[in-house]
Amino acid sequence: MPDKTTDDLATRLTAIAEGAGGSITPPIVQTSLFAFDSFDDFKARMDGSSDAPMYTRVQNPTVAAFEAMMADAEGGEAAVGFASGMGAISAALMAFLRPGDRVACVEHVYPDSYRFMERILRPFGIETTYHPLRAFEDDPDLLKGVKIAYLESPTSVVFQAMNLPKVAAQAKRHGAVTMIDNSWATPVFQRPIELGIDIVIHSASKYISGHSDTVAGVVIGSKDHIGRLRDLSLPLFGAKLAPFEAWLLIRGLRTLVPRMRQHRATADLFADRFAALPFVRRVNSPTANTVPGLTGRSGLMSVEFDESVNIPKLADALRFFRLGVSWGGFESLILPAQVGLAQAGEFNSMRKFGVPSTLVRLSLGLEDAEDLWADMSAALATSRT
Ligand SMILES: *Cc1c(COP(=O)(O)O)cnc(C)c1O
Repeated sequence: MPDKTTDDLATRLTAIAEGAGGSITPPIVQTSLFAFDSFDDFKARMDGSSDAPMYTRVQNPTVAAFEAMMADAEGGEAAVGFASGMGAISAALMAFLRPGDRVACVEHVYPDSYRFMERILRPFGIETTYHPLRAFEDDPDLLKGVKIAYLESPTSVVFQAMNLPKVAAQAKRHGAVTMIDNSWATPVFQRPIELGIDIVIHSASKYISGHSDTVAGVVIGSKDHIGRLRDLSLPLFGAKLAPFEAWLLIRGLRTLVPRMRQHRATADLFADRFAALPFVRRVNSPTANTVPGLTGRSGLMSVEFDESVNIPKLADALRFFRLGVSWGGFESLILPAQVGLAQAGEFNSMRKFGVPSTLVRLSLGLEDAEDLWADMSAALATSRT
């Protein structure tokens, strides 16, 4: 193969992970186990002198090809795939935490991450405290005695962004491991490892897949950190990424950069036009240079209206925006906060962290931006009182 070394992410994502014999996609290696040619080969794999694939719960070539692409994209030494974003988040946390440890977490963290902290970690004697982003940047004692600083930037729902180099420096002083959920920005708009963060996590179900047909997760970091996950939480919890899902993710990564550019262009248009409307109180959508290292906005934003907008009416009047959870696919979606706030159960993070009932979250897809805006304008016109 010719040398395809380049600094450009879009070019690299098209060039790596080819198959054999001229196949420009890698094969789906759909097998549970890998047989060995000899007793000596088998024994060498078991005693650690060989790392040949043995069993798909821990190693698979299609999964490895996806992991190599993600490590490259995020600028990490290694990566490990999981069956879902929550599989990745829980495995990353459980590889480092022991009873008695403390976690410091951002407010407005992804709702199921909040539930993991409260419903799994807390009963095992691991306490999580929640803090505004500014406290991570400016409070010199916040991370004293903390094992893991668990970050999202921008956060879920209200999309506040934090100064990652500042937070990384605070964590290093106290010896805390920093983990960030980078699903919103993707490596196209933010590369946290280059900003000093230890571990990057993605719900690959979102932009990494990009096609709303996969649920998956991935963790990227140093060889040492990823080695811990490979040794402990990947094999022993077993939430492995499946070969076919990994293949779909490789397919998704090929177009990640142009898709993110398109999402950004539509989001720029929506953010500007929403901001000009008198009945819009707030547009939550951090853009390039809001914080160091953030180079663009993705298509996931939220808008806070005033009381003149009837949210249920707005949601039902939209034609191109479907009502649903998740985000990051080709299709546009709306998730009204009123729906999230109504979610049953004690551990409702939207109620805990306080989200206004006039907020809607939008995932702007790959449809024509003017079509989407015409849809939004028409729906707003019919839903205002
Ligand atoms: C969806 C999501 C997750 C969870 O990912 P799954 O793939 O659904 O398990 C984690 N973090 C964020 C920010 C998400 O939006």
